[in-house]
Formats: sequence, C-alpha cells, structure tokens
Amino acid sequence: MSIDLQTFTDNLRSVRERIDAAANRAGRRPEDIRLMAVTKTFPLPYIEVARQAGLTLFGENRIQEAQGKYQPLADDPELELHLIGHLQRNKAKTAAPLFRCVQSIDKLATAEALNRHCSDLARKMDILLELNTSGEETKFGFDDAEQLWAACGDIARLDCLQIRGVMTVGPFTTDKDRMRRSFAFLRECRDGLRSRYPELSLDVLSMGMSGDFEVAIEEGSTMVRLGTALFGTRGGGGV
Ligand SMILES: *Cc1c(COP(=O)(O)O)cnc(C)c1O
Repeated sequence: MSIDLQTFTDNLRSVRERIDAAANRAGRRPEDIRLMAVTKTFPLPYIEVARQAGLTLFGENRIQEAQGKYQPLADDPELELHLIGHLQRNKAKTAAPLFRCVQSIDKLATAEALNRHCSDLARKMDILLELNTSGEETKFGFDDAEQLWAACGDIARLDCLQIRGVMTVGPFTTDKDRMRRSFAFLRECRDGLRSRYPELSLDVLSMGMSGDFEVAIEEGSTMVRLGTALFGTRGGGGV
C-alpha cells in the first residue's frame, strides 16, 4: 500500500486552498494554522511521501503503532510527532520518549505519570488538554469546562509538562451548526482557562479533521489534523 508523490501533492494543494479560503472567510492568516498529517493505519511509505512534500508535523493515535512505524525516522530533526489518541496511564512510560507533544491529556493521574517518566528522561514535553465538546460517550476528554479548569491548575504545576492549549474531536455529524457549536465551545473554554491562568500561554486550539476542518478554522483553529483528506481513505481498522 502506498501513495505516489504526485497524488499526495495534488491532495495537499487542494487542502491548502481550502485552508486559505476558510482563513480568508474568517479574516485570519493561513500561516497561523498548522497542518498535521494524521498517519494512523497508513504504513511508512505514506509518511515518507508526506515528508518529501515538505510536511513536518505528524499525528498518531496508538502508541505501539507509532513506536514501530516512526522508528526509521527517529533521526529526522525536523519531524515532529504528536500523540492524538487516548493515553492510558500505564502507557505513559512508552509515550515519554516518543512524542514531542501529547494532545490527549484528560486526567490529572495520566499527566502525573507522563511527567514522572519525562523527568526520568530529563526532558520537557508539550501537552494539550482534551475536552469532549460533543457530549458523545465514545469520545475521550474532560467531560466539561469545570473539570478542565480544575485539573489545569494541578497539571500546570508538573515541572516537565508544558500546557500549550486545548484539543477536541468534533461531533460525528454532517450538521455544520453542531460542528460550529462544538468548536466555538472549545475556544470559549480556552478563553476561560486564559483568564484563570494568565501565566500560561495557551496558544494552540487543535481542532478540525478532514470532514470539518473548514468550520474549525472559521472558529479559530490553529492546528488541523488531517488523514483522509491528504492520504485517501483508510483501509479499515481506522478509528
Ligand atoms: C483519525 C483522527 C484524525 C484524522 O481524521 P481524518 O478524518 O482522517 O482527517 C484527527 N484527529 C484524531 C484525534 C483522529 O483520531
């Protein structure tokens, strides 16, 4: 299974045009929106093609899969790998050396475990706090803004972790108003965090996937996470 550079470059051009158009509609600068290539279930050649096309920011859902697949790219200084899937506390040790950023922190205990393992490695790690903005039971994240606000204070005290912002997975729907409410809610929660913790720089709003990234950009997204829009459909097993 692979994708040729020409096909990928065409997909990338079309994605960038859509990002630009959405940014323009919202009076924003396209360069303020980072593009992440989500490579879950896609094998190594896909990642290599995306690197060849100049992408540097990558996301994976599962720790085991990321560990094996990204091993050959471990010496690539420009490649930045983020964990975007759920992190269980007992996987924090494996995650600590692997990722530049964990976007899916939704419990103090998980953050504490990750902090301990980062401390053992004498490294700092960026994190995002994940909020469940859709109310869907299958989704991870803090269940509401109050829980997020409360945990943020404790997590901010962990030496090796730096909270950079917040992340959400939008609702499973084609209804644009529901998407928009979900993304606007994440932005409002981030603003609430900012007023409670003015010492933190909470610049990252990670929201928007292939089916909803334009709405997310209109609502202030600074990082869109795209899999199928860049690589085509996943061959089963994708979450
Ligand atoms: C799979 C996934 C994506 C990308 O999904 P696409 O619809 O393929 O763009 C983004 N974020 C998370 C958390 C994911 O699990």
